[in-house]
Amino acid sequence: MYSALKQAVYQANLALPKANLCLATWGNASQVDRAAGVFAIKPSGVDYNTMKPEDMVVVSLTSGQVVEGSLRPSSDTETHLELYRAFSEIGGVVHTHSRWATIFAQAGRAIPALGTTHADTFYGAVPCVPALTQEQVMQRYETNTGLAIAAACQQTYRDIPAALVQAHGPFTWGSNAQKAVEHAIILEEIAMMAYHSLQLGAQPVDSFLLEKHYQRKHGPNAYYGQR
Ligand SMILES: [Zn+2]
Repeated sequence: MYSALKQAVYQANLALPKANLCLATWGNASQVDRAAGVFAIKPSGVDYNTMKPEDMVVVSLTSGQVVEGSLRPSSDTETHLELYRAFSEIGGVVHTHSRWATIFAQAGRAIPALGTTHADTFYGAVPCVPALTQEQVMQRYETNTGLAIAAACQQTYRDIPAALVQAHGPFTWGSNAQKAVEHAIILEEIAMMAYHSLQLGAQPVDSFLLEKHYQRKHGPNAYYGQR
């Protein structure tokens, strides 16, 4: 069952090392099927070169239990679960430790919107969620990571489909797994640009320019791309 969902999640996971967003087995992507009440996610610690679509693990949105698959799901599964529960309009989630975004996360700094490359996808600074407390880390760590992102981004998740977790790394989301991957790629690029632009004294983009670029792609009267 769920073969189309597993195939989509498999392809999204393969796209992460291809885009240089992760080394070894670090990253993970998932996609939800809200009608079926499940999401599929990469198995834990399986090599990208030998992974197969049928290895994707299917997890229940209500119970958080594996409903199909013989491998253990990604160790970050509970974080994905909490994001699907909190952000009702998303269809895919990606987590990586991509270099430049993780550098901002380790510094505990949001990525400011410094230009239109950022504004085309993210309608404002990409937030950095404060590091978890010792208690949050010791008990239900992955669940608490998801809850912390959900609490910080509940108002903004539709227009800023990404967050950093301090001392950890980036999480992105989108309408499906492929979109979440695309946002992870763009996030990495704007993090690299922001790091260098800040060195040169860049200031946040004017709000009218941020507005123009975001809305022409995502607003009710969007006119970017083909009809
Ligand atoms: Zn991680």
